[in-house]
Amino acid sequence: MKKLKCLFDSNREWSDRISQQDPDFFPTLASQQAPEYLWIGCSDSRVPANEIVDLMPGELFVHRNVSNLVIHTDMNCLSVLQYAVQVLKVKHIMVVGHYGCGGVRAALEDRPHGLIDNWLGHIRDVYAKHRDIIGEWQDSSKQFDLMCELNVIEQAENVCNTTVLREAWARGQEVTVHGWIYGLKDGLLTDLRFCASGLDEVEEEYQQAVDKVRSSV
Ligand code: ZN
Repeated sequence: MKKLKCLFDSNREWSDRISQQDPDFFPTLASQQAPEYLWIGCSDSRVPANEIVDLMPGELFVHRNVSNLVIHTDMNCLSVLQYAVQVLKVKHIMVVGHYGCGGVRAALEDRPHGLIDNWLGHIRDVYAKHRDIIGEWQDSSKQFDLMCELNVIEQAENVCNTTVLREAWARGQEVTVHGWIYGLKDGLLTDLRFCASGLDEVEEEYQQAVDKVRSSV
């Protein structure tokens, strides 16, 4: 098991299965990629991007990190965003959080977790901004759900405020930013009502999404 033969065996079976269904699949895919979607999601192993929306290789450009954060100085995320928008010209960018996100819970726990607390500090900022909705943190399941939703909305807004999106919209490129959340318990996606196709729509979409969360309290 030292060299993980089981995974290489699975890979061989997977490749054979797809090639049997479509002998041109891999040769065609190798020559180009033209995905219409950029998925920015959580690293959580239970939230696999392609499987959830049942898309094949080549159909989804993906960036994942702990708690699907979009930080204005994160060169990794920004580089993915730039390539997806400027080169691949994706039509849709979805920030996809999930209920039960361990990063969101850890961010609000009253104990240290080491280096990752620097990353999770961005989630504490989300809590501080929306404390009027969340209330005093008592780690109730309702508060936890609300925080997961608000975190998605904040990160979707962050995408819109990057130079990448501002410049794309300024030159008239058609690209829409969405905020979605995934339920681990039922495997279903929910649209959080954030859906911006231009800089002039961002504030209203943001407010609408936050108001929707507030109304569910
Ligand atoms: Zn997560």
